[in-house]
Amino acid sequence: MERVIIAPGRYIQGPGTIKNLGQHVSNFGERPLVVVDKGVVGILGETLKQSLHEHVQPLIEIFEGECSKKEISRLQKSAGSNANVVIGVGGGKAIDTAKAVAHFMQIPVVVVPTIAATDAPTSALSVIYTEAGVFEEYLFLPRNPDLVLLDTEVIANAPPRFLASGMGDALATYFEAEACARSGAKSMAGGRTTLAALALARLCYETLLKYGEQAMWAVQNRAVTPALEAVVEANTLLSGIGFESSGLAAAHAIHNGFTALEGTETAYHGEKVAFSTLVQLVLEGRTIEEVEEVIGFCLAIDLPITLRQLGVEIVDPKALTRAAEVAAHPDETIHNMPFKVTASMVKDAILAADAMGRAYLAN
Ligand SMILES: [Zn+2]
Repeated sequence: MERVIIAPGRYIQGPGTIKNLGQHVSNFGERPLVVVDKGVVGILGETLKQSLHEHVQPLIEIFEGECSKKEISRLQKSAGSNANVVIGVGGGKAIDTAKAVAHFMQIPVVVVPTIAATDAPTSALSVIYTEAGVFEEYLFLPRNPDLVLLDTEVIANAPPRFLASGMGDALATYFEAEACARSGAKSMAGGRTTLAALALARLCYETLLKYGEQAMWAVQNRAVTPALEAVVEANTLLSGIGFESSGLAAAHAIHNGFTALEGTETAYHGEKVAFSTLVQLVLEGRTIEEVEEVIGFCLAIDLPITLRQLGVEIVDPKALTRAAEVAAHPDETIHNMPFKVTASMVKDAILAADAMGRAYLAN
């Protein structure tokens, strides 16, 4: 199999950089459809308008909250044939929606994450959910965003839980990448992993361990520091290229299983992925030292390590079996693991990881 790596056309990160958005967008088109998350309109609306109006004629649309087929076609209709570039401003779902709209309209897309809560921004992938918020499918796009622009001042002013959640998502990257490298799995990029993508995935994990806790102190005080800059890059660029060009494995499949488990609705993607990473480590039979490193990291930045912390008050064995079956669905990335995985293995790993997490919390 060929080795393939893909990445966004351009990645720009820094404090106050949103002021330059209009100028950057004008390189792609003068009539952008701007898909803006409801929550950020009040905070960023004026800065955005000012930056855009200086250089282009934007059509601004408010994102309704779910990256569903219905929302994608609504935005596509509202853009008509006028827009020649799409800008997605907000969280992962607004961005995924903007990417899908641009794809169907066959025009460039500029991504402006206002939180560093997932590694979705850089990828050529949109995750489609039902209108009720249950995972539906991955929409693979022919190319990555043309530009990803992150204003670290904006990220520093977002609730700290988002940054922690982004670290939860990024925490899985190296372990899933390594599993895919061992099994020789085909990644989302359409081939085997490269030394480059694997190195970025490893750097992602190392950066989290080095700067994760410091970055949380910064964001809790709305401060931009080198540690915050490092973690934003790890959450977005390193994890983004790492997962996409190395591949997803058990952790994200288990996450998808959890979306079907009652109680987890209020947990963020990265929070579910953090606990799912722990489940993958158990499933792989990792040593206590390797597991403890991950648990210690989660404890330090308040990421969940038990089902209860994910919102599951009472563990119903039938519901857990159902979640494990979703995780082990034949189409799932769990089959990128270097060994055969069954639903009952997943269920047992969840139970064991949960017991381990409870033991560490009790200490
Ligand atoms: Zn993820």
